[in-house]
Amino acid sequence: MARDYYDILGVARNASDREIKSAFRRLARKYHPDVNRNDPRAAERFKEVSAAYEVLSDRKRRRSYDLFGERSQRVDAATAAGADPFAGFGDFASVINDLFGGRHRPAGPEPGVDVEARVEISLADAVKGAQPTITVRASRQCKSCHGSGARGGVTTRCPDCNGEGVRRARGPVPFARACPRCNGTGRAVGEVCAACQGEGVREEEQQLRVTIPAGVTSGSRVRLKGQGAAGKRGGAPGDLYLVIEVASDEQFKRDRDDLLTQVRIPFNQAIVGGRVEVTTLDGAVAMVIPAGTQGGQRFRMRGKGSPRLNGGGRGDLLVEVQLDVPRQVDDRARQLLDEFVARTSA
Ligand SMILES: [Zn+2]
Ligand SMILES: [Zn+2]
Repeated sequence: MARDYYDILGVARNASDREIKSAFRRLARKYHPDVNRNDPRAAERFKEVSAAYEVLSDRKRRRSYDLFGERSQRVDAATAAGADPFAGFGDFASVINDLFGGRHRPAGPEPGVDVEARVEISLADAVKGAQPTITVRASRQCKSCHGSGARGGVTTRCPDCNGEGVRRARGPVPFARACPRCNGTGRAVGEVCAACQGEGVREEEQQLRVTIPAGVTSGSRVRLKGQGAAGKRGGAPGDLYLVIEVASDEQFKRDRDDLLTQVRIPFNQAIVGGRVEVTTLDGAVAMVIPAGTQGGQRFRMRGKGSPRLNGGGRGDLLVEVQLDVPRQVDDRARQLLDEFVARTSA
């Protein structure tokens, strides 16, 4: 059964127009769909409140309702029915617009989206950090209009609000709100910028010099704040995410913060020991090989690995020894080797 319109608005049957209006304003704010997204009960209440106000705010219809009840309103309800729930409300729709900025609310600042770019770097750059120049495709502020959307960047006084930035209206509820045409700036686009169709931003390819911190690995994501797509109408720019791909390296293999490299020495040096030169990321470094070193044996050079991305210090460099063994020996050499083996196995 339909509820009584006075009950719906919570006012007495002898309520004044002002009381009805103020009750409606309060309830409309409370149940408006823009305030209660995803709440079907609020939407239902809002419809009830709207229907009640529509009748009780109209002196003739209110009188008819007082005399004959809800049945007197059937014809009106039928004519008001349509695809648009706000159609036919006339004055009512404008009150709602005034309260909430309307269904066609002015388009406010729109933040730019985040942009992702893949960057391939050498292992040395990954370990030491680098500042490569990369090409990024993203929307940027339009150069032709400096982001204003107006041709040549020239704006004119907004004709809708006379440059005030505010629209005022008298009505059942006087109101003032930001001018939707100029978003409250008071300046409007006269002729639309042809380069960006008035959007103020354009998709563009841009060369960017980016900073990659030392210690990144394949799959690392580096966030560059504010380097993503430009925002619209004064919105903040998005961020740029670099997705790092580290190219494989001839000299070094990486194991988290440690690096692995190989050094070849003559087999006789492995037997007696000695100094060898090892290539590190910091240049050539001398390393002492102890006597009796085996092929494949690894030695650790502390602090010669990759810097730790989170936290101080560096990993280590592991040096794996490979033995150079002569492929051919003559009779004399064979004789000496036999003698050598006999001596060392004794
Ligand atoms: Zn433009
Ligand atoms: Zn305006």
